[in-house]
Amino acid sequence: MTGATSNNTVIFSSRTRTAFLNYVRENPNNRRVSQTDREIIIEWLTNPSKQPSSQKEFSRRNYVRKTFAWDEDTQTLLAIGKTSEDKRRTVVTDDMIVDVVESAHEQNDHLGWDATWRDVSTSYYGILRSDVIFLLKQCQLCAQDPSKRPKGATSKSSRQSFDSEVLQTINTRDIQYGNEEWQSVEEGP
Ligand SMILES: [Zn+2]
Repeated sequence: MTGATSNNTVIFSSRTRTAFLNYVRENPNNRRVSQTDREIIIEWLTNPSKQPSSQKEFSRRNYVRKTFAWDEDTQTLLAIGKTSEDKRRTVVTDDMIVDVVESAHEQNDHLGWDATWRDVSTSYYGILRSDVIFLLKQCQLCAQDPSKRPKGATSKSSRQSFDSEVLQTINTRDIQYGNEEWQSVEEGP
């Protein structure tokens, strides 16, 4: 035990944080946004003199301008929804995923995967449902208190079969929540 400097319950231990960073490195996904990706996106949005040097870059720029917005006042990168009524979501770089999930999971008083994923995905862009599940499985408080253990929306008696079911639907649900890839999209003019 090291002397804790705060009274808050530690949701994700430093071991979990390290494990998650390794997990992200070993499981790259175009729906996450690295710090470099973020810089490129911001450059396309804010630098009118930057010209695309290839058809691919041209498509990328068009897609970025349609998908993201730079909020000058708050210096925040936002993902724009498909329709004007859709809420603008803050773009989270992969180094910030743990903090965002931790805060959402704390605010919803340790609800399960589905509820936490809903909270995260309605306000943030760049986090995968599988990232939320990876982290919630290692929540220290949920691990101590069985009544707070993450549950899915359905009450399957076998957690194992639920796990595999969730993994099978991850892609579908990511798309459902508009968390689609931004890098691999090739669009015509
Ligand atoms: Zn928890």
